Amino acid sequence: MRKDFLPFSKPSLSEAEISAVAEVLRSGWITTGPKCAEFEATFADYCGSAGAVALTSATAGMHLLLVALGIGPGDEVVTPAMTWVSTVNLITLAGATPVFCDIDRDTLMTTAPLIEPCLSERTRLILPVHFAGAAADLTPIRALAASRGIALAEDAAHAAGTEYYGERIGKKGTTIFSFHPIKNMTTGEGGMFCSDDPALLDQVRCLKFHGLGVDAYDRAMQGRSPQAEVIMPGFKYNLTDFAAVLGLGQLARLNEFIGQRSRLAARYAELLAEVEEILPLAVPTWPMRHAWHLYIVRLDTEKAGMSRDAFMAELKKRNIGTGLHFRAVHQQKYYRDTLGLPADALPATTWNSERICSLPLFPAMAESDVDDVVATIKEVLGR
Ligand SMILES: *Cc1c(COP(=O)(O)O)cnc(C)c1O
Repeated sequence: MRKDFLPFSKPSLSEAEISAVAEVLRSGWITTGPKCAEFEATFADYCGSAGAVALTSATAGMHLLLVALGIGPGDEVVTPAMTWVSTVNLITLAGATPVFCDIDRDTLMTTAPLIEPCLSERTRLILPVHFAGAAADLTPIRALAASRGIALAEDAAHAAGTEYYGERIGKKGTTIFSFHPIKNMTTGEGGMFCSDDPALLDQVRCLKFHGLGVDAYDRAMQGRSPQAEVIMPGFKYNLTDFAAVLGLGQLARLNEFIGQRSRLAARYAELLAEVEEILPLAVPTWPMRHAWHLYIVRLDTEKAGMSRDAFMAELKKRNIGTGLHFRAVHQQKYYRDTLGLPADALPATTWNSERICSLPLFPAMAESDVDDVVATIKEVLGR
């Protein structure tokens, strides 16, 4: 058994990044300023996006998107239930109705054919999720949204650095990234809103800071004139400069992180191939670069003769941490009580919700850590 606990995720922060944060803290300007502007420009450049707005979280980005699109009572938003609850909470808080589409059983991602039957004349937004670092098959989803005249935005919380047909996620359309500590790069807490729609970007930039008008002065000076006026009632979702400088350091190392994550994922795939109770996710067949945010497996609970929760507890007893991404939203208490979907709704989502488990995966891990995890899994399964 391992002597030290192996967490399922851990941020990789360099001494240079820590020093850069300290330097901002000593500079006298710690809130939104030049480092945020540089982070936005560098991130937009990395993705090939027309523009980017730094925010305090991806959840904030989702909130601002719904407000900018004017989504409210009577409107429907189609999104998978295999996602983090934040999106669905915001749809609900906006007074709109979340409509859940099912997912592909082996990639955990939704598809155009699964979205189409969920559309109605009330649908205002389609919100697919790029899962675990893989890219959703966007081309058919974009075509479907365009043919119905419905807005499309991508939940790219797992997809910083992911590529789809040679293009980075974030280049086209509207995309929201997260920099929470478990994600592929972190700012402590933080998010980025990217879009190829300049009017939407301006609106989000305005809404993220009290709804103050964005004028040429703001763009040139990275500050606001004290005379700036409220154009629309807005929020307070601006990122700090000490978080942004951390993001700059992390972004510079993102490709390196993805390289190491990919090596670890390949090792897992090789070693787990002979463990028949463990079913890794399928890697989509369309051309992409997988960012390997998570290494998710499903426990074949019938073959293993044990529940997923018991499996996670046994691993923990043996010093192996795991995660759960995610317990499906329609199975969380509030949504069970309010939506009351029939037990046979969303079969692939429900099947996975009871069996998925995220194994340790972070850039500072060694291949020998992967070997430890797999050896421990075999022990727990009594092999
Ligand atoms: C992490 C996550 C979010 C929320 O990101 P925050 O930055 O924590 O708000 C949204 N969607 C998915 C799929 C996530 O994994």
